Amino acid sequence: MKLVNIEKYKNSLFKNIKNKLSEWLELEEVQTIPDQEVFRFLHSIKGTAGTLQLCGLMAITEQLLEETYEDGDRLWIPSDLRNFLFDLIEHTYEYEHFDEIEIKKKPVCDSQAPLIQIIDDDISMLILLKDVLEEQGWMVITNADPVKATNQYFEMQPDCLILDIQLPAKDGFQILQDIHLHNEKYFIPKIMISIQNDKHTRIKAFKMGADDFIGKPIDIDEFIAKMERHIERKRIFDQSVLVDELTQVYNRRFLEDTLTRYFHDFKRSGQHFTISIIDIDHFKRVNDRFGHAVGDFVLVEFAQFIKSQIRSSDLICRYGGEEFVLIFPDTSSDQAKHKLTSLIKEFSTKEFSHDGQTFSVTFSAGVFTVENDSVTPKKALEEADTSLYEAKRTGRAKVESTQRTRFNKKSLNVSVIDDDIIIRTILTKALRSLQVPHFDLNIAVYEDGPSFLNSDRAKENVGHFLILDGVMPNMDGIEVLQNVKQGSNADFYTVLMLTGRKSRDDIAKALKLGADDYVTKPFSITELKARIERLLIKLI
Ligand code: GH3
Ligand code: MG
Ligand code: MG
Repeated sequence: MKLVNIEKYKNSLFKNIKNKLSEWLELEEVQTIPDQEVFRFLHSIKGTAGTLQLCGLMAITEQLLEETYEDGDRLWIPSDLRNFLFDLIEHTYEYEHFDEIEIKKKPVCDSQAPLIQIIDDDISMLILLKDVLEEQGWMVITNADPVKATNQYFEMQPDCLILDIQLPAKDGFQILQDIHLHNEKYFIPKIMISIQNDKHTRIKAFKMGADDFIGKPIDIDEFIAKMERHIERKRIFDQSVLVDELTQVYNRRFLEDTLTRYFHDFKRSGQHFTISIIDIDHFKRVNDRFGHAVGDFVLVEFAQFIKSQIRSSDLICRYGGEEFVLIFPDTSSDQAKHKLTSLIKEFSTKEFSHDGQTFSVTFSAGVFTVENDSVTPKKALEEADTSLYEAKRTGRAKVESTQRTRFNKKSLNVSVIDDDIIIRTILTKALRSLQVPHFDLNIAVYEDGPSFLNSDRAKENVGHFLILDGVMPNMDGIEVLQNVKQGSNADFYTVLMLTGRKSRDDIAKALKLGADDYVTKPFSITELKARIERLLIKLI
């Protein structure tokens, strides 16, 4: 007796579902889909799903059928229908990738997970280490290009650095040297890995500030055990420290505790206070022109200058990078703005010099005054931040307050390019739910590279965030990436590649061409969201 090949029918059913969704959801906005058609579609899936014993699919369609009618007269617009059918879309994705998800079993890493940076030009090693570290629930950023990697180190501020010695252009020792001054003040575990495992090299690494040395070939179990130790030590260290090592003002952890206290006091006493976020203007240029050590020096001078100019009851904390938060108790918005304006003026007259060149630095500020009960610390910081970006947008070296600027956020073009409708839909939904206070996300989807590259949007000189499928018909993702990176507005682009798990060559090419990050398919939505949030922080 010949057995029926059920798998074949299951696959064909899901294929039909996808075709129908494509046909409906990618209609021109003006067209609509009659409810009766939706009903018939769901009804037929339910029947087939039952026959093929796909219980999950049957349950979903049963539920959806309760809201559509055989003789219904509703006309669905595609975006509403997409929301309505979302469970079905997600289920189709899970079914298609079920085997791979089972194999991958990757714990989800969230945006709070420790961040590890790996710099290695051996791409298979890079991919292997990223995989095993992410299996531990840590988030990993990778880079094969040492120059780009050094910038990324300062931008992303990883919790741990893994560094290969043999690199093109600049070796691992030189990178250690570049970040040396910074690292004297900061505790960031640095692990050197190298095929060159002789005593002389190891001693040199330790003398230059490495915290550990691992010879290649790497024993993965031992590597993970060591990494656990390093990450744990870093966590304990971060928790026990309240003062920023570099600038000697309070750090972000202290700020969080203190702000909570201020809000409690406000509820009790009604004493208003003003929060300000200040940020050095074009600080990147200082680093680029004079090096990170001079950048560090400017930061220290800046923090100490502000500290010396405010009242002892006011507070300054380093919020991150070149951003600081000030709290002015019992101070109105106008009073704080007045004070900050004079600080900006005075600081801009300060002269710095390096290698016979002199330069000056300005900063911008956003303020928000807490004067009613409904505001949370998070909201207050977001409001001050929004104002800061308004000050930046409108010329820098100035102060803005949130009351005037609420609606002016930075706009960011987020484009998803993927030939799979399921992925496009899932990603759009995930992107819409992102919490990104500084940006107005302008989301658009494209089913292939050319339609994006030929769009007016692609050429706009505004921030672009691209989520790019590696494998597509017509033009694959690598080619799209290449095009974008050769465009006149290449610097505006941050690119996240979606690649197949086994396409090492593609990952290697993508990284070489300047992709900022990659995620292997199938991905977990939570992980992808966390990655996007991390990359967006870099764009701020
Ligand atoms: P904007 O006027 O828009 O603020 O421009 P910017 O260049 O100051 O802003 P952006 O946020 O793009 O760059 C901030 C840079 O600060 C990026 C990062 O490399 C650098 N940075 C962050 N932390 C440190 C640090 O501790 N030391 C040094 N030297 N640089 C740092
Ligand atoms: Mg800045
Ligand atoms: Mg900044």
